[in-house]
Amino acid sequence: MDTSTHFCPNPDCAYRGWVGWGNLRANGHPNGGPWRQLLCVVCRRYFLETLGTIFHGKRASVDLIVRVIACLAEGVGIRGTARVFEVDPNTVLQWLVEAAEQLRTFSQHFLHDVQVRQVQLDELFALLSAVKDGTVSEAEAIERLERSPQWVWVALDPERKLLLAIDVGDRTLAMAQGFVHQVVQMLAPGCVPLFLTDGFKAYATALLTHFGQWGQPSRRQDKGPHPKPRWTPLPQLL
Ligand SMILES: [Zn+2]
Repeated sequence: MDTSTHFCPNPDCAYRGWVGWGNLRANGHPNGGPWRQLLCVVCRRYFLETLGTIFHGKRASVDLIVRVIACLAEGVGIRGTARVFEVDPNTVLQWLVEAAEQLRTFSQHFLHDVQVRQVQLDELFALLSAVKDGTVSEAEAIERLERSPQWVWVALDPERKLLLAIDVGDRTLAMAQGFVHQVVQMLAPGCVPLFLTDGFKAYATALLTHFGQWGQPSRRQDKGPHPKPRWTPLPQLL
């Protein structure tokens, strides 16, 4: 079995976090379950190959979890999905949150040093709301996820249809600054794409903040004080 993308999760093991060191062995399927057990031959610890994924520790079948998430991705609500698959709505919500966290981590791992020529920035009005950690009960979160309006912020490379960033929040300057910052962190150093927006003014401020530099305006007369340095857009910013 290919274990080259797994690593030992034992915090006390010297091989923890390292892939491709040949310290892992496949060790069969415990209790006849669908997943293999892996053994770290250095620290002699066993762990399931699903550790760190949304399938770990779930009694529900992979097929059911995948279908539930696919249904949510198609836009069916949490309660509707729960009825279709005869699953508790809290379970559906739990799987949704776990899948979202996994995908966020996946994107952060793979999306960096991106070279793009264009970025489209948009905010879409949508009926959803963030579930804040522990501040709302699951029942309340389900209510709010299905009813309360929010803005979905989207940054897209229209040439490759690559979704660079997606976030949820109010339509404010603070949100625009934070969102543009997320996008900039994914771009390769020196990459200054053409930005296309819907004209929301806060984007201009946020883009100039991230794609600007201090410039020294020239003196109007031969004598007199030098003008103060000014923050100016990078010449290549479109
Ligand atoms: Zn180990």
